[in-house]
Amino acid sequence: MSSPLNSLVNDDGRYQESFELFLERSSEHQCMRDFIHSLLPDILGSIGNGKSHLNVIGVGSGAGEIDLEMLSQLRLKHPGVTVDNEVVEPSGQQLHNYRVLVSKKPELDWVQFHWNKMTAAEFEAQWKEKKMSKKVDFIHMIQMLYYVKDPGATVSFFQSLLDKNGKLVIILVSGESGWGKLWKTHRRQLCNTEISQCVTTGDIKSFLDSEGVSYQSYILPSQLDITECFTVGDEKGELLLDFLTEVLDFSKTAPPELKAGVMKTLRQPDCSVESNGRVIFNNDLEVIVLDPR
Ligand code: SAH
Repeated sequence: MSSPLNSLVNDDGRYQESFELFLERSSEHQCMRDFIHSLLPDILGSIGNGKSHLNVIGVGSGAGEIDLEMLSQLRLKHPGVTVDNEVVEPSGQQLHNYRVLVSKKPELDWVQFHWNKMTAAEFEAQWKEKKMSKKVDFIHMIQMLYYVKDPGATVSFFQSLLDKNGKLVIILVSGESGWGKLWKTHRRQLCNTEISQCVTTGDIKSFLDSEGVSYQSYILPSQLDITECFTVGDEKGELLLDFLTEVLDFSKTAPPELKAGVMKTLRQPDCSVESNGRVIFNNDLEVIVLDPR
């Protein structure tokens, strides 16, 4: 059944606005930074086999803030190393923001950036067409596997590019997060778009288990304050609700039963907790780390 609801990703302006609000109201990037400074250094330390030049690919890098923090850790673990960094990002606006960020950091002269304004699938096609034999030491896909047609096949392709000791790092919302619960409850209405899928690390782990691929995983606890969503007519609340449901103008266009159902689910204890009068949604992320096959 096709949904009459319009997907938020069809309106890039509102999507970006809602994503920025989400970053403001959540500990999303903070919990990634904690990971980058606690667990990632050891993971990065194990790559490269003593090479003085490393190949890196970032898939769905957004504006690059998180990518640059990871690159700094990489350099700390491998002093003097030079890096070839392929950035794969289909949004022209995001790619532009990333380039501006890099242009303000002349100290990054040890990194050669290659800007690929394209999707992961287009990058894969190009890589195969050019019969690239280059192997890659570190690949990351952070909060982006929702937007590919076949997340499992995408993971397998990028894993196949890893050099000996290479690592593929995936971050998505955890299957046990509020997102997992929201999507499980309203899958039929909310998760039937072509562009975006409700995939969690639970789905990726099931895929890897079925393929007999081993991995390590770590939960990154994270929270999102959704209190404003419950104030009728609150603009920010409505914007956040669009982000949560991935539906454009959810409050105004969703059928009343769906709206009531979603508002109820958002308050369920396995989605949110109430603390000091705030409603705090469980935004836990999970990291999956893969070795070469
Ligand atoms: N990694 C960043 C951005 C996450 S948002 C962060 O964690 O902050 C998801 C990003 O994936 C967006 O920048 C979006 O433009 C990009 N994206 C969407 N579809 C994609 C696709 N098919 N292939 C690669 N990237 C995609």
